Amino acid sequence: STPDPEDVVATLVEQRIELVRLSYPDLIGVDRGRDILTHHLPAACAHGLSFCRAVYHTSPRGDVVDVAGGLDTGLPDICVRPDLDTLVPVPWEPGVAWCLGEPVDPATGLPCPESPRDLLRRVVADLAAEGLAAVVGPELEYFLLDRDETAPAGWRRYADVTGQVYTVGRKGDPAGHLPATLRALDALGIGAISGNREFDGGQFEINLSHSAALDAADRAWRFKTAIKEIAHAEGRLATFMAKPFNDTGGSGFHVHVSCVDTEGHNAFADPSGAHGLSDTARHAIAGLLEHAPALAALLNPTVNSYKRFGPDTLAPWLIDWGLDNRSAMLRVPPERGVGTRLELRLGDASANPYLAVAGVVAAVLLGIRAKAAPPAPLQGYGYDRARAAVLPMTLSGSLDALAADTALTEVLGKGFVTAFVSYKRDELERFRRHVTDWEFGEYAYHL
Ligand code: GLU
Ligand code: MG
Ligand code: MG
Repeated sequence: STPDPEDVVATLVEQRIELVRLSYPDLIGVDRGRDILTHHLPAACAHGLSFCRAVYHTSPRGDVVDVAGGLDTGLPDICVRPDLDTLVPVPWEPGVAWCLGEPVDPATGLPCPESPRDLLRRVVADLAAEGLAAVVGPELEYFLLDRDETAPAGWRRYADVTGQVYTVGRKGDPAGHLPATLRALDALGIGAISGNREFDGGQFEINLSHSAALDAADRAWRFKTAIKEIAHAEGRLATFMAKPFNDTGGSGFHVHVSCVDTEGHNAFADPSGAHGLSDTARHAIAGLLEHAPALAALLNPTVNSYKRFGPDTLAPWLIDWGLDNRSAMLRVPPERGVGTRLELRLGDASANPYLAVAGVVAAVLLGIRAKAAPPAPLQGYGYDRARAAVLPMTLSGSLDALAADTALTEVLGKGFVTAFVSYKRDELERFRRHVTDWEFGEYAYHL
């Protein structure tokens, strides 16, 4: 049952919380919202808060992108309803509580067609029609940066000289960012399990527990927002961009996925099947591989994303699967029984968690529906180009693959795919016209 807003206000006042921060994901997963004075919360719950619909169509730089239902209809209002079940005090900002909002069309009361959360909800319902529920465990990496006016971009990597991957304690994390962050995430109820210093200085990975797909995406999305806020409070910048530096690796967003049947049994496990995997797992593997080129548009959604891929990066670009093989795009971790699952290593941290999870669940669903069969698993070294099909290695290519993937488009919804592809093609066009440092370095002197 939904909590009574008046009761919620009384509790908040007791906790000395004067502000409620309402936020929701836009098309690309950026958090948008508004701070509400606590005593105005009941009115916000009754009517919702009005926002300009441009929120779904505004780039991180602030350009409003012309997507169907946006500029062409005069940027009408959307209405955002607070979901009081998600209300939680903000550990790094005393006096503020945070809740998720549900964007609806004020005329119909129905979810906005581009709402990433609603998209995921629809895909989950389609899988439920097959008697299955997806279980998802997100794993995200990010870089933490310190202000440095002398650095090329004004930021340099935090702790970039000390430690190595898995170095624990202050050697790799002199200011204690990781322990403070894990405590804050725990207070938020994000389901963080553990964190470590990653392969590069200033890079961290935090693993989140697994749960139902929508809940996992909610937590991954709140996680990204929380990490950026915590870094700001430290006077730092946390970035989930895929490949922020030329001389380091990128940041991945590995998605662990399995399915449970209506009795709660892991539908990917079968002790008598090859490699302990069920037919359902095999279909899911085949579905993920078949739709990988289109999935890249959702899991690797920026111009920068494709710079993360390369030989020996642990970021896979050949479309294959393997048994506990980190050089394969789809790894089957060694656990069996209830822990039987797939780890899709394709995605990078810049992905909108709702779209990433929706894409993964949709591809799993399509593989299961088609009873598709995967190729033989990769053995050994995975970076030999001749061996398997290659991803589209550009955003342009993956957007074309998404637009051409009619089966995936049917599951995700034509309205969503059209809006997403046109938003992203606009981004590509802005990038196409931008002169980069590389071009100046390559051409200015010799030509
Ligand atoms: N940083 C790698 C990536 O971009 C992943 C490293 C790992 O296996 O954790 O996906
Ligand atoms: Mg990692
Ligand atoms: Mg992983």
